[in-house]
Amino acid sequence: MNDYRIFLSRSLCSFAVNRMMVNHDTWTMNNQTTIAGTAARHVPRVVVVGAGPAGLMAALAAAAAGARVDVLEAQSQPGRKLLATGGGRCNLCNALDPEAFMARFGRHGRFLAPALRGLDQTALRRWFADHGVPTRAADNFHYFPVAESARAVLDALLTAARQAGVRIHPGEPARTLLHEDAAAGRRISGVRTDVDVHPASAVVLATGGLGYPALGGGAAGLELARATGHAITPPVPGLAPLPVTESWVAECAGVVLSPGRLWIALPGFPKAGLAGELLFTHHGLSGPAALDLSATVARALAEHPAGVPLRVALRPDLDAAAWHAHLEQWRTSDGRKLLPTLIDRLLPASLAAVVARLAGVTTTTAARLDRAAHDRLVTLVTALPLTVTRAAGWDRAMVMAGGVDRREVNPDTLESRRLPGLFFAGELLDVDGPCGGFNLPWAFASGRLAGRVAAAARP
Ligand SMILES: Cc1cc2nc3c(=O)[nH]c(=O)nc-3n(C[C@H](O)[C@H](O)[C@H](O)COP(=O)(O)OP(=O)(O)OC[C@H]3O[C@@H](n4cnc5c(N)ncnc54)[C@H](O)[C@@H]3O)c2cc1C
Repeated sequence: MNDYRIFLSRSLCSFAVNRMMVNHDTWTMNNQTTIAGTAARHVPRVVVVGAGPAGLMAALAAAAAGARVDVLEAQSQPGRKLLATGGGRCNLCNALDPEAFMARFGRHGRFLAPALRGLDQTALRRWFADHGVPTRAADNFHYFPVAESARAVLDALLTAARQAGVRIHPGEPARTLLHEDAAAGRRISGVRTDVDVHPASAVVLATGGLGYPALGGGAAGLELARATGHAITPPVPGLAPLPVTESWVAECAGVVLSPGRLWIALPGFPKAGLAGELLFTHHGLSGPAALDLSATVARALAEHPAGVPLRVALRPDLDAAAWHAHLEQWRTSDGRKLLPTLIDRLLPASLAAVVARLAGVTTTTAARLDRAAHDRLVTLVTALPLTVTRAAGWDRAMVMAGGVDRREVNPDTLESRRLPGLFFAGELLDVDGPCGGFNLPWAFASGRLAGRVAAAARP
């Protein structure tokens, strides 16, 4: 058991001394905050709901701005999802400047601008370096801690929180957001849990999304937002693998196309689709290109429940004309060879075998390939059809697409337009980015903005 004595300087005329006993997962207060002096200045009380990256950064920003901060966390430990990021190595951020970074969030990218002005990716890396977690990008794009440890990232946040006097309450989920009707209108007044009522001048809701329930994902935050009158954009699994109905994919499990190109073959969806690494699995597709398309596919399924047709260009660098040219050349140079053995010069062997089978040319030599089979083959390698009839489960979704409607939140402050004093941060908002170090920077930047402004909120 460790024993921490933490001195909090909250305002010019007040000092608080908290003696915190750290006992496994629980931080308990021995002495409640005492305010010295007779005319104690108003100390803002910020309650943060959720001890993920967004909530912890919000807590730090609010404490730095002079607030007394309590963080409620439903799980028995803070930051469980953070520990799983980047396969336990934590892809903290990437090398894009704010403009390029926002562009990757699609049409709603501008919503991120004010938060990124306060904490862009450069500043985020500097913050972690200053807190003992230097980062590097071995591929010049994806930044990971030099120690390759998500634990180091979480520990830096928790240490900073402890030093700032932030009180974390693990195993204490928020049940109800309290508000009061003052002369100036309705405003937030606190949070009720099963064991306590936490009065608050401001509340930051940072409960994350529905993905990975085992790591804290769930609908509680959406329900709290809904109960206080906020509209919710229907959530769908994002950054999830794509299960397909074609059983042959299992024969190609482990094959990586680097890159492949994937698109939705329905009117209204861009044929350019997404290019990137594509991984065949036993049940479908994974890898960045598939993960990044998954939320769009999930939404398309709502309108096309019978199935969403996908197409894959197996070699995006070879268009139909290039494939035609290869087949013609093989006809003369390797006429007696079987087509599967020729195609696997350009494709992984297991994929070449499947493509040849689907085209009906498994036992055909290059010289005997007729026009119809030739065209079938070219169509398959340039636009291989796959079908999705269901989205992956929430247990496979690295982010939630959808969430609290952005129109109900002021992007300059992240304060609710419906309930003054209530702020939102992180994945709970209808903001989601692709894979590759986009979602954590948003969680941190939004947490910082919400926490800083929340500390300035006056009841
Ligand atoms: C396996 C995996 C790998 C990932 N890898 C990366 C990566 O490498 N890089 C990247 O940028 N992103 C990655 N992500 C996405 C990233 O982890 C999330 O976008 C990010 O954690 C969101 O932060 P958040 O603070 O908004 O939510 P969360 O991290 O989900 O934290 C929310 C917290 O709120 C708590 N909570 C929920 N309801 C309540 C309640 N009622 N009361 C109190 N507490 C509550 C939860 O228990 C949780 O601890 C990954 C996600 C997963 C699942």
